[in-house]
Amino acid sequence: MFEDLNDLYQQVILDHCKKPRNFHELPAATCSAQGRNPLCGDQLQLFLALDGNTIKDISFVGSGCCISKASASLLTEFAKGKTKADVEKMFERVHEMVTTGNVQGDVGKLAVFAGVHKFPARVKCAILSWHAVMAALKGDAKPVSTENEQT
Ligand code: ZN
Repeated sequence: MFEDLNDLYQQVILDHCKKPRNFHELPAATCSAQGRNPLCGDQLQLFLALDGNTIKDISFVGSGCCISKASASLLTEFAKGKTKADVEKMFERVHEMVTTGNVQGDVGKLAVFAGVHKFPARVKCAILSWHAVMAALKGDAKPVSTENEQT
């Protein structure tokens, strides 16, 4: 399924899939959001502890395919200690990258998802946690479903 992704990227995704980082509930969370991708069966819940505009802590729980779990894991690694604006900017970059393959600016480790645009069915898996984090930051209480999004 990942024959077009290079080995290094594949290894990072598999590593985060098998050992997701920040994979637990967060009792100190100030907001959270759920995301569902019915096409694949991915579901996850993100927890954020905000201090003003800064994400002091972030975690997630859920189940799904390797891409969705690795994406959420890498998202939490990226977002910890960042501001809302940092996450919004990165959402735009990741969205562009997974839908078109164009990488704009420095996306760090998230570049492992650049090859996902070649697998249209997987784009929603990769972007799910990003829609969820945006919903959490906006304070949207209703679960995010990729069925209602244009990815
Ligand atoms: Zn999936």
